[in-house]
Amino acid sequence: MARNESKSSEIADESCIFCLIAHNRDEETTVLKKDKELVCFKDIYPAAPHHYLVIPTEHIISCKSLKRGNIGLVERMANFGKQVLRDQGITDMEDVRLGFHQPPFTSVDHLHLHVLAPASKISTSMDYKFTPGTDRFITEEYLRKRLEKVRPNVCEMIGQFFELK
Ligand code: AMP
Ligand code: ZN
Repeated sequence: MARNESKSSEIADESCIFCLIAHNRDEETTVLKKDKELVCFKDIYPAAPHHYLVIPTEHIISCKSLKRGNIGLVERMANFGKQVLRDQGITDMEDVRLGFHQPPFTSVDHLHLHVLAPASKISTSMDYKFTPGTDRFITEEYLRKRLEKVRPNVCEMIGQFFELK
């Protein structure tokens, strides 16, 4: 999508850089892929030859704000990031790393999935930031499994009840 195409007036947090990017209000950022729910762009300080961020248009603070009902969102973010990698010519999908930093190890308080490839070429000086299974960084798969263990809230239980009927 071209820069600043279809500027949206609705914005959750005017002080959030990722909200500005999601709403085409940041002149510096080139959006690589966008749909109604998600936006993908290059990380400004890449830690690997390909380093992208996938964000929801909605201002969700972090992976710690997510509920069981957001498992699908996490999965869609991962698929979105993988599609961008394919669009950029990445073919070895085994050598990729997709994950989230957890507060307090986040620097932008708007949910974002880091998409890195090739994982084997993550810069050694930045590797500690993207090591899965640490308090700092968790993979999208780990996050989905963790959310599966969260008890559904009342609204989600009602939704599940009607889905089963
Ligand atoms: P985190 O540490 O997980 O909160 O990561 C935030 C990421 O956003 C960092 O990797 C930054 O390099 C990246 N970042 C911050 N501002 C921008 C921006 N304006 N455009 C692209 N990437 C950004
Ligand atoms: Zn935001």
